Amino acid sequence: MKTVNDVNFKGKKVLIRVDFNVPLNDNLEVTDTNRIEAAKPTIINVLEDDGCCVLMSHLGRPKDREEEFSLRNVVKTASEILGVQVKFVDDCIGETVENAVANLKSGEVLLLENLRYHKEEKEGDKTFAQNLAKLGNYYINDAFGTAHRAHASTAVIADFFPENKCFGLLLASEVDNLNKVLKDGKTPVTAIIGGAKVSSKITVIENILDKIDHLIIGGGMSFTFIKAQGGSIGASLVEEDKLDVALDILKKAKEKGVDVHLPVDAIIADSFSEMATTDVSVIDTIPEGWMGLDVGPKTNEIFASVIAQSQTILWNGPVGVFEMEPFAKGTIYLGNAIAEATKNGAFSLVGGGDSVAAVKKFNFTKKVSYVSTGGGAMLEMLEGKTLPGIKALTE
Ligand code: AMP
Repeated sequence: MKTVNDVNFKGKKVLIRVDFNVPLNDNLEVTDTNRIEAAKPTIINVLEDDGCCVLMSHLGRPKDREEEFSLRNVVKTASEILGVQVKFVDDCIGETVENAVANLKSGEVLLLENLRYHKEEKEGDKTFAQNLAKLGNYYINDAFGTAHRAHASTAVIADFFPENKCFGLLLASEVDNLNKVLKDGKTPVTAIIGGAKVSSKITVIENILDKIDHLIIGGGMSFTFIKAQGGSIGASLVEEDKLDVALDILKKAKEKGVDVHLPVDAIIADSFSEMATTDVSVIDTIPEGWMGLDVGPKTNEIFASVIAQSQTILWNGPVGVFEMEPFAKGTIYLGNAIAEATKNGAFSLVGGGDSVAAVKKFNFTKKVSYVSTGGGAMLEMLEGKTLPGIKALTE
């Protein structure tokens, strides 16, 4: 994997695909700077080599050229974080942009307007990619959040830089950290898979079974497993058409010597609401009309003891409806167990789908070894897929 650390950018115009798809408030101010901070090391690396940076990104899902999706809104925050005044040009291809790039000096940063103002970006259009490619003599991809998309700026463009392309530091560290779990993970390796639905995690589970020793299953998806084994789950979330799949996963896990840990009890509620009446139930005798919305106290203990023995931990998906206070305890308990194991020397990675939201909400970010920045991209890596953005850099 060739990264920015292997290249001297002196005198180069470096086109960097970053992920500045950040949330904005009603005043169009950036409310979460994580993604800009995550791109900083790569940008600074180029500037310190005396190169200049042309940054390109998407922002949201514009239909037209709506002001709320303009990357101009990000310039102030990006300038503060990078410590240089970021220049801005109000398109991403064309003569004005080419002129702005031509005038760019070493140590300067130019941010282009939202790539998705052109529909050709998402279409992976070759001519559009070629027009972007004119804006630099070196290409770096550091946008992990969109690396699973074969868009013009994330994949197609790389063809125009057969030699002059490399991984940004963020993209490289996402790959490295996943490898620390799935390739070089110290045993015992434990994966915690939670979240709403089995259907969205089947491929992940099947792909990781060869690489793990323990599989903890929690969240809404666990009820499909409990029902498949003959349990009564009341009104809990279930995917009736995935009962066979659940049994098949359990069979495969057994064949591969993976210990599967399913919840033994649940916090049940009489409605899907913060105001619901709640109780604790054994997992396979949940009364009619009641639904399991969090793991129960005995399950917390069991999950925590498996985690305490683990050297490598992958966490994908909450074990309860953590967005509602009465059903957040299981996810917090689990987070604390992972934090404790990490403190004792285990390597822990959180990523894929929604789990990062839970980690941020309960302040676990600094207590785990690595938090992935890309939900969909991490999920696809966990599924064993080669991401188009990564493939394009290595071909
Ligand atoms: P995912 O995006 O697949 O990781 O799923 C995350 C979602 O699963 C969160 O919004 C949780 O509220 C939801 N979830 C977790 N546990 C349950 C449960 N027992 N019943 C319903 N939804 C759940």
